[in-house]
Amino acid sequence: MSRDYDVIIVGSGAAGLSAAVAAADTGASVLVIEADTRVGGSSRLSGGHFYAAGTSLQAEAGVIGDSADAMFEHYMTLNQWMVDPSVVRQFCDLSAPTFEWLKDLGVGFPKAGVYPSGVSSTPRGHQPEGSGEEVINVLDGHRSHKGVDLVLDSRVTDLIMEDGRITGIKVGNDEARCAAVIMATGGFGANPEMIKKYYPQAAASGDWNWYIGTEGAQGDGITLGTSVGASIDGYDRGLLLVTPGFSHDLEVLLPGWLILVNRQGRRFTSESAPYTVLGGLIQREGGSAFAVFDEEARLGAKPSPISQANWVADVLERKAKEGSIFRADSLEDLARSMDVSTTGLIGTIERYNADVSTGTDSAFFKNTGMKTITEPPFYGVEIRPAIICWTGTGLRIDAETRVMGHDEKPIPGLFAAGETIGNLHGDRYVGGGGSFGPCIVFGKLAGENASRYTAALNES
Ligand SMILES: Cc1cc2nc3c(=O)[nH]c(=O)nc-3n(C[C@H](O)[C@H](O)[C@H](O)COP(=O)(O)OP(=O)(O)OC[C@H]3O[C@@H](n4cnc5c(N)ncnc54)[C@H](O)[C@@H]3O)c2cc1C
Repeated sequence: MSRDYDVIIVGSGAAGLSAAVAAADTGASVLVIEADTRVGGSSRLSGGHFYAAGTSLQAEAGVIGDSADAMFEHYMTLNQWMVDPSVVRQFCDLSAPTFEWLKDLGVGFPKAGVYPSGVSSTPRGHQPEGSGEEVINVLDGHRSHKGVDLVLDSRVTDLIMEDGRITGIKVGNDEARCAAVIMATGGFGANPEMIKKYYPQAAASGDWNWYIGTEGAQGDGITLGTSVGASIDGYDRGLLLVTPGFSHDLEVLLPGWLILVNRQGRRFTSESAPYTVLGGLIQREGGSAFAVFDEEARLGAKPSPISQANWVADVLERKAKEGSIFRADSLEDLARSMDVSTTGLIGTIERYNADVSTGTDSAFFKNTGMKTITEPPFYGVEIRPAIICWTGTGLRIDAETRVMGHDEKPIPGLFAAGETIGNLHGDRYVGGGGSFGPCIVFGKLAGENASRYTAALNES
């Protein structure tokens, strides 16, 4: 059967473009097909951080002795082994070599950008110059230079399967034939129906939800993959950031001058806990918590690198006047209005104030911006983990990026990489770069493997 291309890649984010460059380098003729009018997807908006262990840049930055083994142990332990070890292992093993590949392609990574992202003291986050946008520009430059064709504004609607093998794609009535298809369609953060179906923790925040990425994140990888028998994994996983729900502004951290309490009026975490775990901690408290502070804290709440939009004096004043946050002249009244235990809240604040006076948060070890809560009026702001950063449900792959069927066999000719895969992330996000990094790692691997698969088909 005649083919238009060896490999067709659906989606042009970090995963798709990495796949394109690698497939072309491995000798394949390649088409990238993209639903949007420009390349890059959510990757273009991303920080582009790359989580990796054992890189040359770590060594330059003085981080000595980190390794794929250490990264694997941390990743598995953090997620209580409730992830796919073979896929995680592959990510860990290939993180450093793939990082060097990206650097060699021309993405600038300053050594000052190596930092401990997430919940590990080992610095594995690698921040690129120019963020995700620059990574996309560099990858797309190589794609173009290597003669990989690109079709924009064309949403793939079907996969073609013949005799048990994937042999092409369709965009409505148009079709293109190939030996292998790589699904690199990103997540489903922009698709409310899929959020309901596959990410109920996020859906529970109702109309507080919003997704920080592009409209292209419709979950087409899941829709197209399942139409040809792919199995999916990673139910109810992703990353949710906490928000008071005032606006659609991305703020990752909470200011130190507030405390978080649950329905018993108790603190349950350091308010400066890493963003990678804070959402999960609030989920455990029933999906929401209250930020409590006093008038002095509100008056001192100036725009800062942590918050420009939510935790600033005039916004909080406006929200109190609108009645969308609680304000009361006594802690008893505040607790009653929030339907929180009065005894718990008063006891918590007495204990906290005593800690502030000694300078030590004896309960949760918070070490930033602590302030006593003594000056009425007092404030209570409901917060929820509701900002969707990326979604974790997706196609189940093996460690070679082949999409798995329900029969535990790879679907011939179908590969996947990036946010559309479902068996990499656990209940806890490993840290900044833990989504973008594997997009590049598995994108490159999918490109190489799809190209080799094509060559083997040609020989048979
Ligand atoms: C603002 C922001 C900041 C982030 N920061 C970080 C960070 O610093 N570190 C980190 O690890 N993660 C970060 N993330 C998450 C990470 O960037 C994403 O998970 C990752 O970029 C997804 O890459 P991808 O290639 O899988 O998908 P995308 O980049 O979303 O690309 C998928 C592409 O596929 C296209 N597509 C979808 N369906 C079809 C179809 N049927 N036909 C044709 N094309 C289709 C889409 O239009 C899109 O262009 C961030 C995300 C955002 C939005």
